[in-house]
Amino acid sequence: MQNNQTNADSVRYLPPYERRGAVFVLSGPSGVGKDAVLQELRKLRPDLRKALTATTREPREGEVAGKDYLFWTVEQFQAHVNAGDMLEWAEVYGNLYGTPIASVEEARQGGNDVLLKVDVQGAASARALGRSARLIFLAPPSLEELANRLRGRATDSDEDVARRLKTALHEMTRLPEFDYVVVNDDLRLAAEQVAAIITAEQCRVSGIARLAE
Ligand code: ADP
Ligand code: 5GP
Repeated sequence: MQNNQTNADSVRYLPPYERRGAVFVLSGPSGVGKDAVLQELRKLRPDLRKALTATTREPREGEVAGKDYLFWTVEQFQAHVNAGDMLEWAEVYGNLYGTPIASVEEARQGGNDVLLKVDVQGAASARALGRSARLIFLAPPSLEELANRLRGRATDSDEDVARRLKTALHEMTRLPEFDYVVVNDDLRLAAEQVAAIITAEQCRVSGIARLAE
């Protein structure tokens, strides 16, 4: 009797159903390895879409416009902010960074899950996307290692590195605002943990909607 009841109930929740595309926000201090993890993650989960974000900073060596970032002038950036085109934006170390709404919509087309790489201030604004936004904090194994990575990147001056480290200490205090934390010690393991979080979120019952009957 009990079994029949359970079966009858569960039948109502079997497919057909559809998943709503979710938004995953990968954040953490500058130099922690967000780009490196995203690159690794793309190998594990090629289905995930990355929303292209915009910046007013100069491209680093090897960076490609329209792939790594949309490289905008300050005037172009401000025009997009004034037009209400940005989902979130922030001034990070003297440059403007932000996520155009169009980038997220484009990436989300067809029910795809979308990944955003956003600084710690901008991550909270991404909550405005709705309850489906999941915030993942990428943390360094230690402050010393974060300093090594920032210096190793060799694109920032000593002054910039010192400023980023000081900011990182403050950013770590915002950890409780996030849903998940992954320590980026071993790169592959960190990417696997992010992939596992995404897989678990994709299996959430609250993330599916039954198709209209
Ligand atoms: P972010 O995007 O967070 O600013 P990057 O992805 O540019 O950081 O990484 C900063 C530097 O640290 C790069 O030189 C990168 O190769 C290195 N790095 C990233 N993750 C690791 C890791 N797990 N172990 C060692 N070095 C790493
Ligand atoms: P970088 O210049 O090293 O690529 O990025 C510097 C910082 O800007 C990083 O902490 C990065 O997460 C942040 N950032 C990159 N894109 C965006 C974005 O679209 N929005 C916000 N708020 N921050 C971003």
